[in-house]
Amino acid sequence: MSLTLCSEALSGCTGCEMALLNTGGGSLGLLDKFEIVHMPLLMDHKYFGCRDATSEIHIPKACVGLITGGLRNEGQLRIAEKMRLQCRVIVALGTCAAYGGIPALMNLFEDADLFRRYYRSAEGTDAAPNPSRVVQPFLERTFALDEKIAVDVTLPGCPPHPDRISALMESIIDGRSLEWPLQSVCDSCPTKREGKGGVQRIRRFVRNARHQVQGPLSEMRCLLEQGFLCMGPVTVAGCAGMDGGPPRCIEARVPCRGCHGPVRKGGNQLMDILNALASNGIDTKDLPDRLLSLRFSGAHDRLNRRRLPKPD
Ligand code: SF4
Ligand code: SF4
Ligand code: SF4
Repeated sequence: MSLTLCSEALSGCTGCEMALLNTGGGSLGLLDKFEIVHMPLLMDHKYFGCRDATSEIHIPKACVGLITGGLRNEGQLRIAEKMRLQCRVIVALGTCAAYGGIPALMNLFEDADLFRRYYRSAEGTDAAPNPSRVVQPFLERTFALDEKIAVDVTLPGCPPHPDRISALMESIIDGRSLEWPLQSVCDSCPTKREGKGGVQRIRRFVRNARHQVQGPLSEMRCLLEQGFLCMGPVTVAGCAGMDGGPPRCIEARVPCRGCHGPVRKGGNQLMDILNALASNGIDTKDLPDRLLSLRFSGAHDRLNRRRLPKPD
């Protein structure tokens, strides 16, 4: 017997759906096991009410509700709440659903700044008043799904590796819970490390890392020790899929940007990497890159006010 499945894409880029398609043969096998009853991206299923705050949203009942993307506006929140009502198991698929992801960078700015910069006065668009129809009212910031609805299973990744999506879906079919090892990206990184004290300074990643083009990764020195801000120490492993290969960005000789989220739920990657750098003797006030420009723009303070836990 197949399981019924609803899927919704909220505040994200739909890259997670591309990853779902990239499960390839795996996804074809899954098609026999899931009956998709609602997936607007695939089947142009019209459900009324998401634009009108007073009418009901029609989403059918299903065993599994797959949600990608976080929550930025009231319409998305209503859809997520309806999915929660209608689906027995809710899966937060991808880093946007799990943590807010890239769209949550909007949390650095006030809504008035966003409207001014990207709506009212953007080059190439006519100056206009704030939208009052069709465009849904913003929530006060971008939320991860589990800040607003109960989530049963979370698979982070921007996007998650197709192998992991297949493994997750198979575990749901079999009624098994799936535990991922809580390791950091560094734990699965084969680069050469010299250990504590190896990081002397941090510079912007505007030049290639030092490495032999034909040489194996194990001969390249750790990118953090080369002075690039690599988020590997504070990011959960798993981007390489189920076969445990090297982290995807490191394989491309590019520092990890932390896309899989913290190693432990509730972790704070920003604070953790600043602590790690400080313990290597790096003065975080001297960090180049965006942190500095954010501090100058005042957005860094706003981020702290909105997202960081209060000190004990
Ligand atoms: S997690 Fe990444 S790939 Fe998935 S929707 Fe968000 S931005 Fe796109
Ligand atoms: S800091 Fe980056 S390059 Fe260094 S071991 Fe960790 S993931 Fe690899
Ligand atoms: S190396 Fe880091 S940023 Fe790159 S895919 Fe893996 S977790 Fe994401």
